Amino acid sequence: MHDYLQAINADASGEEIANIPVPEAYRAAYVRREDIGMFEGLASWEKDPRQSIHVGEVPVPELAPDEALVAVMASSINFNTVWTSIFEPLPTFGFLDRMGKESSWGHRHALDHHVIGSDGSGVVLRVGSAVRNWNPGDRVAIQCNYVDAQDPSGHNDSMKAVNQRIWGFETNFGGLADLAVVRANQLMPKPTHLTWEESAVNALCASTSYRMLVSNNAATMKQGDTVLIWGATGGLGGYAVQLVLNGGGVPIGVVSSPEKANLLNDLGCEAVIDRKAEDYQFWSDERTQSESEWRRFGKQIRSLVGEDPDIVFEHPGRQTMGASVFVAKRGGVIVTCAATSGYMIEYDNRHLWMRLKQIVSSHFANYAEATAMNRLINRGAIHPTMSKSYDLVDVGTAANEVHHNRHEGKLAVRCLSPEPGLGIDDHDKREQIGEHNITRFERHATSLEN
Ligand code: NDP
Repeated sequence: MHDYLQAINADASGEEIANIPVPEAYRAAYVRREDIGMFEGLASWEKDPRQSIHVGEVPVPELAPDEALVAVMASSINFNTVWTSIFEPLPTFGFLDRMGKESSWGHRHALDHHVIGSDGSGVVLRVGSAVRNWNPGDRVAIQCNYVDAQDPSGHNDSMKAVNQRIWGFETNFGGLADLAVVRANQLMPKPTHLTWEESAVNALCASTSYRMLVSNNAATMKQGDTVLIWGATGGLGGYAVQLVLNGGGVPIGVVSSPEKANLLNDLGCEAVIDRKAEDYQFWSDERTQSESEWRRFGKQIRSLVGEDPDIVFEHPGRQTMGASVFVAKRGGVIVTCAATSGYMIEYDNRHLWMRLKQIVSSHFANYAEATAMNRLINRGAIHPTMSKSYDLVDVGTAANEVHHNRHEGKLAVRCLSPEPGLGIDDHDKREQIGEHNITRFERHATSLEN
């Protein structure tokens, strides 16, 4: 890998990079099949990703004709990294085994180790014989929609393809490693003004937020729409706030500390609710929700923006869904992509049907949506939300921080990139877009540490 790193740092040509022999093994973060039962009997919060995620050498797989081998300079922690590492709600080996039965190329994925990670930035090293648009030496960001073109079901929207998967979660050979195997239709140009780490944190969360809010596959936000955003400085929320502001909407951000509230203000979000300070108790016990608390929450939203939200950006799930359905405007949309606090959801259906609201589901993004989002980032209209970067050997620690909600925005992981701050291709563009915009989350995290 040393030869690759040297070549990349020296801006070697694609031909030179293509001539460097591919090693037989590479360094990767992975979970092991033999560890599936290791946390049995523990509560979720007691399950420690530092115990289940290993970093070590694994064999390099053979490359299929429609794939690219990428030298991963940086990757990121997503919540799916947490799910995989605590084997919840299911161990991911079931996904790999199913994939193993699909084709001989799929068979490569059904291993006893699962290389995780669903984001990445890096340099293309090799392409398969069927790849048209990418070449060795290309500097890329990787999006995680893993799909082929062989199913009619995917041809209006590849997220609806019956064999759609999330790379590095439902497939092997993910991004938290020095090398990654991806389908060519996962590649996008790396934003030229960003470092490797800043380029690596966006694709999964930003594209998910884009589809949820902007694309006509979900909430289809209009100018002036008011949007209630849960976890507004989190992985998804940090991009959602920016998309609402960039699209002429009015965000109402919900967070859980004064520090996060400050960060939201700095991001340009004026309407902020600190759910901890307000002590919202939407559930009075495990089975009963409190309509008076929903009402208090709705009142606070009205006092901040003068109306009910046109769109509620939902992902906490069980803890918040009842309140989300209640506070949405008559005719409004609750768009959901997750259920962090529990997936068996309860809400009062009368508030949905009598007020003609809709619950709309959304999941990651198709290639067109991810590319549209990457374009916004490359133009400097939306900025990375990286608050900190870790070395690959500390990936378990980084995942543990996200597991316990001790982070803001996104945590990057440096893979081949030996130090923070490398990889900027266009310094003039960076200056024009503004360091203060690009590094807002990182500055904020650093000021809290000091
Ligand atoms: P983060 O942990 O980065 O952010 C989520 C934020 O939600 C937290 O920071 C917290 O913010 C808030 N939150 C957590 N629990 C609660 C709760 N009980 N009530 C209210 N707010 C809560 O995660 P991500 O944003 O990256 O992901 C969020 C969820 O979305 C995860 O479950 C993830 O798996 C899923 N996801 C789904 C995708 C898809 O394609 N379907 C794509 C990406 C993520 P605060 O404490 O400040 O309020």
